[in-house]
Amino acid sequence: MKRIAVLTSGGDAPGMNAAVRSVVRSSINRGLEVYGISYGYLGLIRGDIKKMSLSDVGDIIQRGGTSLHSARCPEFKDESVQEIAVKILKEYHIEGLVVIGGDGTFRGATALENHGIKTIAIPATIDNDIPITESSIGFDSALNTVIEAVDRIRDTATSHERTFIIEVMGRDSGMLALYSGLGSGAESVLIPEEPYDFEKITSKIKRGMERGKAHSIILVAEGVMSAEECSKLLSKELDIETRISVLGHIQRGGRPSAKDRILASRFGHEAVTLLLNDYSGEMVYLKNNTISHVSYDTVLSEKKELDTSLIEIINELSI
Ligand code: ADP
Repeated sequence: MKRIAVLTSGGDAPGMNAAVRSVVRSSINRGLEVYGISYGYLGLIRGDIKKMSLSDVGDIIQRGGTSLHSARCPEFKDESVQEIAVKILKEYHIEGLVVIGGDGTFRGATALENHGIKTIAIPATIDNDIPITESSIGFDSALNTVIEAVDRIRDTATSHERTFIIEVMGRDSGMLALYSGLGSGAESVLIPEEPYDFEKITSKIKRGMERGKAHSIILVAEGVMSAEECSKLLSKELDIETRISVLGHIQRGGRPSAKDRILASRFGHEAVTLLLNDYSGEMVYLKNNTISHVSYDTVLSEKKELDTSLIEIINELSI
């Protein structure tokens, strides 16, 4: 293998830049030519491709987002569009492709595999909803961002003795809400994976009020309901003033955490090693602080396990 390429696709996540840097520098330092494809699969079918040098990825390890940009490209599900991508990769003599993204991105890579293109995937999503890997690039950074935001909200919640309902990202996955709930000391967390018991939430607030505690933090993953809906439901049950906060896109942005930079650097390095050793159709993953790899088929057929026993800990620790 002489020439490979790298792209970022789907939702951006802090640490994607560190992964691109790692892929580019690991490749060049091992004698490969490496091309950067901008705007994910959309850039691939448009031929938005350029050769990368060591310095092209300088000064990006600390930046959030992705300097290669990302884009949604729904038409990539079409066979005819995939064939355009294959043609372009062949024109550029690109023999291997590293894709950085979430499960949608891996489906795109699977399609390329079916057309004979060698690909390796790096999991990157703030939702951390990719099975098998303990962590995906971006999760730790987003978690820290959410916890910092909740800390700030808690200051005002305590001062004004209010109940705050904070909406956290996570349409199908409650991992971010669950971990940030535990890390920020929230009173209750609502996630899509677990049926919620509103009665329990309101009686906890009531018990707190009876003891003189006048503020509470409730985290709700956006997939369950909006903070506004949650506030309306709560107001029906309790005569308290609530405030809502929708954290929104601040959760995606910002400097990647140390953990994400290190993970991204390790994943990128491993992805290049795998291509050089003739592996393809595999995702790199982290388990017990060791990097390994697993086939796309396995990743895409499994469901991420969420440790819902953490909810019990949240309930026990919040009084
Ligand atoms: P993520 O990678 O973060 O899950 P998306 O689900 O948006 O994000 O997927 C990223 C891109 O991957 C899509 O815009 C599309 O180009 C490609 N993709 C997603 N699903 C498929 C599929 N079934 N077949 C081919 N390409 C796909």
